[in-house]
Amino acid sequence: MTDMIKTNDRTITLEILRYNPESDEAPTFGTFEIPYVEDWSLLDALEYIKDEMDSSLSYRWSCRMAVCGSCGMVINGKPQLGCETFLRSYYPEKMRIEPLANFPIERDLVVDSSDFIKKLESVKPYIIDAVDATKAAPKKKQPEKTSTGVYKQKPAELGLYKQFSMCINCMLCYSACPQMGLNPLFTGPAALALGHRYNLDNRDQGADERTEVIQDKNGVWSCTFVGYCSEVCPKNVDPAAAINQNKAQGAQDWALSFLMPRKGDK
Ligand code: SF4
Repeated sequence: MTDMIKTNDRTITLEILRYNPESDEAPTFGTFEIPYVEDWSLLDALEYIKDEMDSSLSYRWSCRMAVCGSCGMVINGKPQLGCETFLRSYYPEKMRIEPLANFPIERDLVVDSSDFIKKLESVKPYIIDAVDATKAAPKKKQPEKTSTGVYKQKPAELGLYKQFSMCINCMLCYSACPQMGLNPLFTGPAALALGHRYNLDNRDQGADERTEVIQDKNGVWSCTFVGYCSEVCPKNVDPAAAINQNKAQGAQDWALSFLMPRKGDK
């Protein structure tokens, strides 16, 4: 790493939250003055610190190109990916790096994502085919199938849900969401957008099976529509729109239930 640094006298200061729950009473900030290299991402800077200054620094990373969603952290108060945040955007000011908010800290910048994974799973994020769905007759008109049974989905049909399928599970939206801090049971932006993605897919017939989670008081109705989740998303997913569309659908279904009671209802 040191071989890569072009010699210059400029430095930048990084304040990084340090915390080991097994040995520390409370999180504290550690200060690192490192060489300022114009084309370094924050991830490069963290790697320099780990290699040259403090090997105990803990953070997650993998792809380095905003695809894996591993390196989410709060940078000067805003949830961002470390790999696509550059020192030059902050120099000569210092940078303050914290773990994602609204998650338990495992160590330093590493958070526990197990509750997030459970929330993703709760919306059944997979195609539920007509034969598997609890309702025998497909509610949605499904795409044509080829002679070998493969769906022929048209570009316009793909366009309905494509943006919601771009999520990389980086959890930035959960860190940005004020409601997550107030109500940890809130299913949250990414999971609700993911459920919406499958409900909009015309190969899928599982909307009824997702309704209980999506329309729950801890589902879309817990959202107060601040919209910061969509603002911080690095992949231009719009979870706030997904949530609002589901609120509108829920309200419509509720009103229709008075006019068109289901079979068997009195
Ligand atoms: S919706 Fe966007 S911010 Fe939220 S987890 Fe997915 S990619 Fe990250």
